[in-house]
Amino acid sequence: MLELHNVKKDYVTASETVSALKGIDITFRDREFVSVLGPSGCGKTTLLNIVGGLDRYTSGDLVINGRSTKSYKDRDWDVYRNHRVGFIFQSYNLIPHQTVLGNVELALTIAGIGKEERVARAKAALDKVGLSDQYYKRPNQLSGGQCQRVAIARALVNDPEILLADEPTGALDTVTSVQIMDLIREIAGERLVIMVTHNPELAEQYSTRIVRLLDGRIIEDTAPVTEEELAEAHTKLVGTPDTTEEDSHLREVMEVYKSGRKPKKKSKTKEKAKMSLFTAFRLSAKNLLSKKGRTAMVGFAGSIGIIGIAMVLAFSAGIKGYVASMQEDMLSGNPITVSETALDLSALTGMMNSEADKVLEKLPGNVYVSSLVEYLIKTSDALNSMMVSNEITDKYVEYIKNMPTDSVNAIMYEYGIDLQHNLFVDFKVTKDDPAQHISMKHITDLYTSVLKDTDYKDLASMISFMAPDLEQAVPGEDFILSQYDFIAGDKIATEKNEIMIVLNSEDELSDLLLARLGYFTEAEFLEIIHKASAPTTDENGNPIEPVYNKDIYKDYFSYEELLGRTFTVYPSDAIFKASEGMMGSVAVDYTSSFEKGAKEGLELKVVSILTPKEGLNYGSLSSGIYYTEELTKHIITTEADSEFLTFLKDKNSASDNGVRLMGKYSYDYYPYDALNGNEKVGEPKTVSDGSVFSITQTADNVIRSLGGNDLVNKISIYPKSFAEKSLVTDYLEAWNDDDTVLTIGGEEIEGTSRQNIKHTDTIELVASIINTMIDIITYALVAFTSVSLVVSTVMIGIITYVSVVERIKEIGVIRSLGGRKKDVSRLFTAETFIIGLIAGIIGIGFTYLASFIVNLILTPLINYPSIAALPAGNAVLLVCLSVGLTLISGLVPAKSAANKDPVVALRTE
Ligand code: ADP
Ligand code: MG
Repeated sequence: MLELHNVKKDYVTASETVSALKGIDITFRDREFVSVLGPSGCGKTTLLNIVGGLDRYTSGDLVINGRSTKSYKDRDWDVYRNHRVGFIFQSYNLIPHQTVLGNVELALTIAGIGKEERVARAKAALDKVGLSDQYYKRPNQLSGGQCQRVAIARALVNDPEILLADEPTGALDTVTSVQIMDLIREIAGERLVIMVTHNPELAEQYSTRIVRLLDGRIIEDTAPVTEEELAEAHTKLVGTPDTTEEDSHLREVMEVYKSGRKPKKKSKTKEKAKMSLFTAFRLSAKNLLSKKGRTAMVGFAGSIGIIGIAMVLAFSAGIKGYVASMQEDMLSGNPITVSETALDLSALTGMMNSEADKVLEKLPGNVYVSSLVEYLIKTSDALNSMMVSNEITDKYVEYIKNMPTDSVNAIMYEYGIDLQHNLFVDFKVTKDDPAQHISMKHITDLYTSVLKDTDYKDLASMISFMAPDLEQAVPGEDFILSQYDFIAGDKIATEKNEIMIVLNSEDELSDLLLARLGYFTEAEFLEIIHKASAPTTDENGNPIEPVYNKDIYKDYFSYEELLGRTFTVYPSDAIFKASEGMMGSVAVDYTSSFEKGAKEGLELKVVSILTPKEGLNYGSLSSGIYYTEELTKHIITTEADSEFLTFLKDKNSASDNGVRLMGKYSYDYYPYDALNGNEKVGEPKTVSDGSVFSITQTADNVIRSLGGNDLVNKISIYPKSFAEKSLVTDYLEAWNDDDTVLTIGGEEIEGTSRQNIKHTDTIELVASIINTMIDIITYALVAFTSVSLVVSTVMIGIITYVSVVERIKEIGVIRSLGGRKKDVSRLFTAETFIIGLIAGIIGIGFTYLASFIVNLILTPLINYPSIAALPAGNAVLLVCLSVGLTLISGLVPAKSAANKDPVVALRTE
């Protein structure tokens, strides 16, 4: 039984308070057909909504099966509506984007019933109302009568105890009205039906009881419930659990049991109204699918911000990848080095901050002194702190030699040897002159002096700045052969008397290198300078052929000419003789030419000519002539017993200020007339301004450059790959770790007793500077593009709000069917989630497509395949960001949807 006790309802509006119900006292039997009649505005709909739990009474009480609803929570009302009540409205209130079947399913969906059962029951309900062939039509494809049948099927699909119909035939013609009334009576069967109608005839014909309302009060009731009936109903309810019990759900179950109704078929399912999150997504997806065009537009608009950020990140990652690949490429040409002295570029920042302190407060009337001295001192301090001197000890060298070899291709040890004094070549002044056996230093001085006698005086000093002549090659035949091919000879120099020539990628050697190694006659060399400085335009600026002597000019050598040369390395004692000089200095006697064979030396022969492999940009050997590590060892061993160097060392260590080397030498040369067929001109002249060692060289440097120091002064480490480079640097850093004890040669060395040694990794440094710059640019661009992300987020919020307004009727229907506020908000949250996901996926998809095109265009230009490459992790993150932002933007609209009053929502047209 449903009992209303003095139920009143006031609508409070801004301007007035409307009393829609003014104290209703009425009891409805469990099985009867009640018609409520009354003029428009008398409170019929209000009464129905209150009975149906859609609206709350202001005062009084609604007692359901002997239980007061005063303590009902939102949740209880939702359950009540979903399971006990079926609504039929005048305007059908079907959801337009759902099929007929979907509309009927909705009540079951909200109850959280599984798909199979849901479809079966919905179809059964539709069959009952005679719509078995209309399952998949949309409401707008049906007639009014058919729509109302769908609504009836929907109201009854949950098998409610109470059917509430608000003017169900109000919008139908007479014939259809009768059909609908018949259907309601037939289907309603053993239930309580309360029908509001304008039509007294229909009421008379179908109902068992007529209640008339006027101005919020009952003025007539044709079959009121008697005292006896009420008493009987109450005795039936004796033993009902305490109505104050907190667990309303348990109460519900007990009530169903006590009320004597047949237990529901699915009695194992708890009686509750619960829509799953998945259902919310399904319903939202359906709604979005029914508006494909708009959804696509919104998704695209939302994706613009994501595209902006994704493109920036794609380029950032791509360029970083490019830098990394360059590093990999440059690795073999730029080894990690440990040198006796190195420049610590990381200290550069310290130097920038070395500005002198300023006097803060300056009083007027004075002229202040700016401290230039302080500035200079600070700057020079900073510069000095940038110079790192590493003490490379034998222990350290041993430590390096113990390095796991699987991560490095090669390690080269150098001793700072300079061969210019000790290396002798056969040099011809002219083709016809006999060859002279002279040192490289001699040739250098000769050319310097010769040039000073010509019009090219300015070029004279250039000779001594020439490219390195002879260098030590990286050890490791396989490593070299992985980068170079033989073009003459077939042997990598390995023995002490073997040298090899390495060409650049154009198969060239520089003219200066060749000149210094005695490959040119004096005339040939001068013709090269002559040609290079000959005017290429006439006085009017028109291009002309440069004038030079093509008979003398030499621009290529045959392999035989290159291979046929011999070079001889002599020990220092063959070249230098030391004696006591003035004022504690050392007087040096220098011999730069003698008959070949007059002194004992090591003859070197060129065993091969190498050229870089196709596509090698940075090799371990640049163009030049290379000797072996074996030769270095030979020189160190030989020079250990050198008389000259021993004298120098003794003298050097005896003096606190080091020792000054005094030594002059002179050679003869013939000046040439470069413009006149390179004829010898007159008498020989003498090189007079040479000095054996440059004034800035200390004795230590001289000793080292001649091979008198057996301590390594430079180590170059060639890691196998970019990835393995960090293993190498880790190993090098371990030396500097004070907390680890290293075992070297069976001896344990404490961390604190090791001197720190800094390594130089040029490409790493350059790459890190570039990467930092890329990062800064990336942050800035992301910040800019984020603005469009904010804009699209706000836009999605607005569109969601529009959607809420559009779907307000649907919100009402869902609520009337027992949907919770939560279900409604979930519906819109799901909608924004889907839109965010679509926007994210469009954004990422577009970015990958655009990247593909950009890469296609740029690959041939920069020789790198993926300059735009969005990392997968970033892509996922951006989709999440898109979803997250749209979810936030949808929060407010979803909340407002959930809080819509269902009564107002249903009344909205
Ligand atoms: P009926 O269904 O009998 O035509 P209603 O129950 O819809 O009448 O309305 C009863 C009275 O309450 C009317 O005067 C109506 O204007 C007023 N009313 C109904 N709903 C509201 C509301 N949400 N706010 C203010 N007044 C309302
Ligand atoms: Mg009404």
